[in-house]
Amino acid sequence: MPDKKEPALSPSKGERLVSGAVGSEDAQLDTSLRPKSFADFVGQDKIKESLRISITAAKGRGETLDHLMLYGPPGLGKTTMAYIIASEMGVNIKVTSGPAVERPGDLAAILTNLRQDDILFIDEIHRLGKTVEEVLYPAMEEFALDIVIGKGAGARSLRLSLPRFTLIGATTRFALLSPPLRDRFGAVYRLDYYPKEAIGSILKRSARIMKVKADPEGLDEIARRARGTPRVANRLLKSVRDYAQVKASGVITHAVAMKAISWLEVDALGLDEVDHKVLNTIIGKFDGGPVGLDTLAASVGEDPDTIMEVYEPYLLQLGFLDRTPRGRLATRLAFEHLGLKRKKGGPQAELFQ
Ligand code: ADP
Repeated sequence: MPDKKEPALSPSKGERLVSGAVGSEDAQLDTSLRPKSFADFVGQDKIKESLRISITAAKGRGETLDHLMLYGPPGLGKTTMAYIIASEMGVNIKVTSGPAVERPGDLAAILTNLRQDDILFIDEIHRLGKTVEEVLYPAMEEFALDIVIGKGAGARSLRLSLPRFTLIGATTRFALLSPPLRDRFGAVYRLDYYPKEAIGSILKRSARIMKVKADPEGLDEIARRARGTPRVANRLLKSVRDYAQVKASGVITHAVAMKAISWLEVDALGLDEVDHKVLNTIIGKFDGGPVGLDTLAASVGEDPDTIMEVYEPYLLQLGFLDRTPRGRLATRLAFEHLGLKRKKGGPQAELFQ
């Protein structure tokens, strides 16, 4: 019998399997698995309840919903939630992102095309340029668009009124938002990593939709490695399914999940080689830290923003990293997880007493 072919495992070469950020193959997976209602949206109960109340109240008064902000690491459901809010409000949603709106004119075009009660969703809103952001202030506050006609001494300002709309902003970096923009949101919701049980429910639902045969123990193993992130869970499920199909009988049993995930080089806590590189660099090159973000990024060969937005949040959540004013520190838990011992009398001494 010919050898079974190596499965073509997603994501594409060079992309991280366990990153919450959107990869090139995520769009289709995201769309097919995206919950369409709060009933299907697993977890984040407090946020859902609070949104349900705001939506019912706004609908009861016949008003638009207040502008709101969703923030948290990538892949936790911010976009999904925005779509659900639109559907529960029974309104249209326009979707764009900070980097896509390059000039004030781009935003003006979007705003003037909105209809009464529409939702405008701006992903990565912290990446809007300052001049674009300034167009947003009167739009959010007074539903007005200020247009400047002409140049120099003869310039005149013209005010156009806009329909009432709801802006939903999403960001992974709340601290980067300018205070005037932050203040214009009626509510700010922080999405947290999901507990393993919630990820388990998401996987069960996804396996059903993808028609994947899986034992509860198999899904449980995937849930454990999914870094509390639905997008990572779904991506792992897809890769493990491919592996099961090509290398096993097609069913995701516990043994198959274990083999597949270790083949994918994801460890027991969902850390991959980049996470290991970050921790090993802090520990190996800098005696456990503290090391500044830029130095760390240069040593790992990554962009500082990527380290901060993509890698660090989960390592912080696990308690493997500490952010201190002097830089990043690897904690005792990180040393233990990697099976490393601190150098005697090293700068981490106080952590190990
Ligand atoms: P974000 O905008 O925060 O990066 P998304 O809303 O795009 O994240 O979510 C990524 C994918 O993860 C979605 O397509 C959906 O399939 C899944 N997902 C996210 N949150 C949930 C949830 N609470 N329940 C079920 N699936 C979810």
